[in-house]
Order: sequence, then structure tokens, then C-alpha cells
Amino acid sequence: MTKRQVLVAANWKMNGTLQTVRPLLKGIAAGCKEGIPAEVAICPPFIYLAETATLLSGSDISLGAQNVSEHASGAHTGEISAAMLKDLGCKYVIIGHSERRHIYGESDAAVARKFMRAVQTGLIPILCVGEELSDREAGQTEEVVARQLDAVIQAASIGSFSKAVIAYEPVWAIGTGRVATQDQAQEVHAFIRLRLARHDSGVADRMRILYGGSVKAANAGDLFSMADIDGGLIGGASLQAEEFIEICRAAE
Ligand code: PEP
Repeated sequence: MTKRQVLVAANWKMNGTLQTVRPLLKGIAAGCKEGIPAEVAICPPFIYLAETATLLSGSDISLGAQNVSEHASGAHTGEISAAMLKDLGCKYVIIGHSERRHIYGESDAAVARKFMRAVQTGLIPILCVGEELSDREAGQTEEVVARQLDAVIQAASIGSFSKAVIAYEPVWAIGTGRVATQDQAQEVHAFIRLRLARHDSGVADRMRILYGGSVKAANAGDLFSMADIDGGLIGGASLQAEEFIEICRAAE
């Protein structure tokens, strides 16, 4: 079995001001300097990417964005292209976050197009999948996750997943304080890996599958100890440097 490098990625969502972003980044960078047993990535709002890149230069922390246009360039007012993200030094981009799917109506097909654009441009997509509470209660978690995953595999090909990360984020756990148990999360992570293995066992084995949904320092260790959980995508708790660093340390 391949040893997968743990990734802990911060999704700041639409939070922060220049005044809060600077001390937060300094706190995270200082904590990381003491040594973290994981790769750490920060995904700030677009508007703070340049500032974040500057403040993180010289550190091992990676930069990521929260969204990207499916289009290459041109007449798309208000959109941000993959090439622009590359230009600013982004390594990762979150694709298909549940807030994009559910609030902004991004379809599986649109998510697949964004995924392909990211890969073509040399960005590593962090592809988010996850069921709503009603899906789980109806026993349809695997069906929903499989549909979201298959849409991208079919459009982009399994080969492109060798340059991707997947985040399992049950919608009912995001920002709610209600975390999936380590067994609930592990079950879906194993399902995702198996689904990938139907196409390519090497890609499946190497795939980093992150868990996201109300991860905190208090529950991160239990989650990260599971066989198929290779790190986390952290929302609310990534807005506090100490809490976030504690989560990163839990990757031990
Ligand atoms: C997220 O936004 O991806 C997320 C997991 O949020 P939270 O940690 O706040 O649940």
C-alpha cells in the first residue's frame, strides 16, 4: 500500500479583512515553522491570494483557491481563470464545494468542466463530494457520492485523478458542528477509494481523500487515524491560528 502524504487544507470561505488575514497568516506560519507532520494549504478568498502568497513566501505552506472558472479566458465578467490562479502561485483549487453546488447551482457537469480546466492548467483540484442529510437518512449516501464522482471520471478520465485530491464532505456536517463519526467517514472514504479502483487501482491507492465537516482539534486525531482518511478540509476552525495548527498536528 502506498504511503500517502497527509494534507490539511484551510477553506476560509468568504471571511476576513486585510486586518484579520495578516495576523491569522502570521500565526499559522509561525505554528508551521515548529514542524507539522502534514502538508498544509491555505485557500483564502480570491481577493487575499496575492497578500497570502507574499506572507507565506519562504514557508512550506501551499496556496489554494476556493473556486475557478470553467473557461480559459475572455468575456466572463467577474470570473477568475485557472491561469490567473497559477500566475499567483496557487497549487490547489477547491472544486465543487457543497456551497457552490447548493447555493450557486453548480451541476455535476459544471464541476467536471472546472476539474478539467484545473488539471489542464497544472492546478491540483480538491474535488468535493458529499451527501445531504436527507440522502443519508434515505440510505442513499453511496449513490449520491458515486454520481458526483462518476460525472467527473467520465468527463475527465481516471488518469486525470492522478493529479487530484478528493474531499468527502457530508453536507450535514459542514459548518453545523455536527461531525461525522470516524466510522461513518471511514466507510465513505473506503467506498470512494473502491469506486476509483474500479477504473485504476494505482490511482485509487495513491489518492488522498480528505474529510471535511466540523473538524476541530478535539476530533481531528480520531478522524485522521482512520485507514482511508488522508487529512482534512477545514472551514470554521481554520480561521483561528492555534486551533488550525492543533488540527495540523493531529496528522501525526
Ligand atoms: C468546509 O467549508 O469545507 C468545511 C468543512 O467547513 P467546516 O469545517 O466549518 O464545517
